[in-house]
Amino acid sequence: MFNALIAEGTNDHYSVSLKELRLDSLPDGQVLVKNLYSSLNYKDALALTGRGKIIRKFPMVCGTDLAGRVMESNSPEFRAGDEVFAIGQGLGETRWGGLSQRTRVPAESLLHLPEGLSLKQSMAIGTAGFTAMLSLMALEHNGLKPGTGEVLVTGAAGGVGSLAVALLSDRGYKIVASTGRPDLTPYLLRLGAAAIIERAELEQKTPPLASERWAGAIDTVGGQTLASVIAATAAYGAVAVCGLAGGPNLATTVFPFILRNVSLLGINSTIAPKLIRIQAWDRLARELSADKLEMITSVAPLSQIMPQSELLLAGKIRGRVVVDVNS
Ligand code: NDP
Repeated sequence: MFNALIAEGTNDHYSVSLKELRLDSLPDGQVLVKNLYSSLNYKDALALTGRGKIIRKFPMVCGTDLAGRVMESNSPEFRAGDEVFAIGQGLGETRWGGLSQRTRVPAESLLHLPEGLSLKQSMAIGTAGFTAMLSLMALEHNGLKPGTGEVLVTGAAGGVGSLAVALLSDRGYKIVASTGRPDLTPYLLRLGAAAIIERAELEQKTPPLASERWAGAIDTVGGQTLASVIAATAAYGAVAVCGLAGGPNLATTVFPFILRNVSLLGINSTIAPKLIRIQAWDRLARELSADKLEMITSVAPLSQIMPQSELLLAGKIRGRVVVDVNS
């Protein structure tokens, strides 16, 4: 038997509860994992509270991320005792996920823990940190280099934002962090932000072409914020678009793209192919400061994840929540 946060019902109405489940209720998969940690992502909070259409099949064990040890494996890639983790890949959406003490997954979804990271650290990074790294990789692929100019991170005190600030500043970028929580300015400066910009400033309507400021940006907010960021992106700059914490709409014009050569780079962490996942995690293990990761992380037991989800959606969680699935 094992404990899991399970959603039961239909698309129209479902409820989530912490339940004891039998091992033989787990769906098919090559590798059985004894989970030690999971994490709480924006998408998990939407699924757990029923405020977003995340879950595609019922019943569904929630949780986009998991980290633990292999118990049984039919795959030559993994052996009992291996330390493994998985993020995205349909976990908690189409396949039973990681807010659980046990998960059975296809070998393709799993990665070996990279050298230099603990299981807990892999979940402190989780989907959010992986997304921050994919955004950094996309911006660098587009030509961004330290010294090119200021790089903006929006929703900076959240999970993706905190990790983006830490990662980019350690790499030598001059980061401007946008937050709606000015009380968290000391936290963002300690993560490496060079300056803070109020969330409200970016929510103001701007002309389609504003003064050129950003060499690059990682946007977790969307809506008017994203439109303002695009308008102030410098020639040949790029914006990695990964979130919608402020809304899914985007009202802009073609001018930044056709007059300034600005690029909009889409980021989806859940469908990243294995090679990209390995490259990104290798960089995360090498480049992210352990001290900063510790500063970003809090730990909560599985039993507290429902109230933690409400806090996250209310914009009241700082950084990342690691879930200890065994307490
Ligand atoms: P968090 O809740 O941890 O952080 C979101 C942050 O956005 C908040 O901390 C807050 O930052 C800011 N924010 C919240 N509400 C608003 C609002 N109404 N208007 C403007 N800013 C707001 O979530 P994550 O960091 O985990 O995720 C951020 C976004 O990225 C989400 O939309 C999520 O769905 C998306 N995402 C996308 C992924 C992908 O693969 N593309 C993967 C992971 C996440 P502050 O207090 O500093 O202003």
